[in-house]
Amino acid sequence: MTVPDQYAVFGDPIKHSKSPRIHKIFAEQTGQVLEYKAQEVPAKQFSEAVAVFFANGGKGLNCTIPLKELAWAYADVKTERAGMAKAVNTLALQPEGSLLGDNTDGIGLVTDLISNHGVTLVGSSVLILGAGGASRGIIAPLLEKSVQTLVIANRTIDKAINLAAEFQHQGAITGCGFNDLKGQQFDLIINATSTSLTGQLPPLPEALLSKNGVCYDLAYSNEPTVFVKWGEDNLALKSLDGLGMLVEQAAEAFFIWRGIRPKTRPVIELLNAERKL
Ligand code: NDP
Repeated sequence: MTVPDQYAVFGDPIKHSKSPRIHKIFAEQTGQVLEYKAQEVPAKQFSEAVAVFFANGGKGLNCTIPLKELAWAYADVKTERAGMAKAVNTLALQPEGSLLGDNTDGIGLVTDLISNHGVTLVGSSVLILGAGGASRGIIAPLLEKSVQTLVIANRTIDKAINLAAEFQHQGAITGCGFNDLKGQQFDLIINATSTSLTGQLPPLPEALLSKNGVCYDLAYSNEPTVFVKWGEDNLALKSLDGLGMLVEQAAEAFFIWRGIRPKTRPVIELLNAERKL
């Protein structure tokens, strides 16, 4: 009997994770023999837990809150996009034994926006709320799609300014605080803060969203998040949550590990149907 290859997602908290389910469906869909588990790993135990996982024959890992920067530091080699993001969500054991670190969050978001929701990024004005690990991962992929302007607004203003400075060579990007947003309008507003997880909303001025603008919350939940509701209240053309991004970033990780690209549309449709039950 073939022993299934072992994969996992590490994070803290991790109970809410849909990743094991998504990868199980991908494996069935593509005929791959593998197991994927969720494991609660606090930041303090990260290095030890990763070492044990790969020593026991693990093939690949996803890392989520609050471990992405630690995974970046742990990886032996990094892809260009992970190097720029300084955050890694996917570790892959290489044939010669080294650990490759990649970041599939940005491509996951951009694919969901463009391919699944028909959002035009070229020439658009984009606002990212938040300057944490998720924000780091999505900046370069958005700039690569030729957005016209990208503004990062954060509670801790210095973090937004410093983050924008890191990516300045790649496009028109600035950092600021939430108060500085007064009087500005954006075609796309992305919530990359963790506020939705606690049912809160960053303090946002009125008339921030352009007519026919789109809102996207990286967080997802069975009920519309506070930010998704904010988008609806502000007459967004579409107000979306991050379930599609989650599936798309998982598909990219699956491709890195297995060399096969699973179909994402049926998985997104299934997970969406389940949360409407
Ligand atoms: P981090 O902890 O790295 O960053 C959190 C960010 O939220 C910081 O900018 C922080 O600001 C801000 N923040 C926290 N509390 C508040 C508050 N009360 N008011 C205003 N701002 C606040 O988290 P991540 O970047 O890793 O994750 C952010 C979100 O993205 C999470 O909801 C996560 O679930 C989601 N995510 C979804 C993915 C998907 O596939 N759909 C993939 C990756 C992330 P400050 O700097 O001032 O502390």
